[in-house]
Amino acid sequence: MEPDDIDISVVIPVYNEEENVGPLMQELDEALTSTGKKFEVICVNDASTDGSLTTLKELRGAYPWLRIIDHTVNSGESAGEATGMQYARGAIVITMDADQQMDPADIPAFLEAMKPGVTAVCGVRRKRQDDFVRRMSTKIANAYRNWITGDKITDAGCTYRAIRREALREIPVFNGMHRFLPTMLRYQGYQVEEIYINHRPRTRGVSKYGVGNRLWRGIKDCLGMRWYRSRVVKGGRSHEV
Ligand code: UDP
Ligand code: MG
Repeated sequence: MEPDDIDISVVIPVYNEEENVGPLMQELDEALTSTGKKFEVICVNDASTDGSLTTLKELRGAYPWLRIIDHTVNSGESAGEATGMQYARGAIVITMDADQQMDPADIPAFLEAMKPGVTAVCGVRRKRQDDFVRRMSTKIANAYRNWITGDKITDAGCTYRAIRREALREIPVFNGMHRFLPTMLRYQGYQVEEIYINHRPRTRGVSKYGVGNRLWRGIKDCLGMRWYRSRVVKGGRSHEV
């Protein structure tokens, strides 16, 4: 591992997004360069069956800050996030999807909201560009999850977030983790804030989730969160001196 002199690591799970990764890297280059910070982008290829990996390798020629981690088997979005976080070297980790629905131009707003004492900033999709069924299922799931978990996260399904890497050490990894990351951070005693972000329609590639694998699994996970809340070990208890 190289020394921890990187400010921002952007972590992106990639599964069959060959048409999206190119334009996304270009937008990230502009947005991240404008911050004046030292950055890296970590794309976790989740065993894509299209040309995503080849495309990413080609892009590395143009973008030296691009790192590629390859999953040997398809493991899901949570696992992709978790893998990227393990490889990340930046003080702040920004997670986002590869599908271009999230706008890299929002990155400065995330950094701005990361005031001292704030551990994570979560995006909230103000005008969500998905169909009615998906918007409704999310609404119901959010209301249920906030009730069961005793937490108030406006948009738990939005994976556009900025998190201080030091706080990620004690987050348990499981399928579905990405929907509960802010809640688990709050259980651990960390301050989590929210900002509105721009949300764009998916124009290339297909969504990997439907109502079935989103709503019902989410409900099951909420019960797990109740258990976790009763057993949580508070974070931030140690630092190297
Ligand atoms: N993804 C992944 N592995 C999977 C499914 C999805 O890495 O098994 C990635 C996908 O490429 C995208 C992100 O996770 O970057 C979110 O997936 P998607 O956009 O399909 O979900 P939605 O935004 O529709 O909820
Ligand atoms: Mg998406």
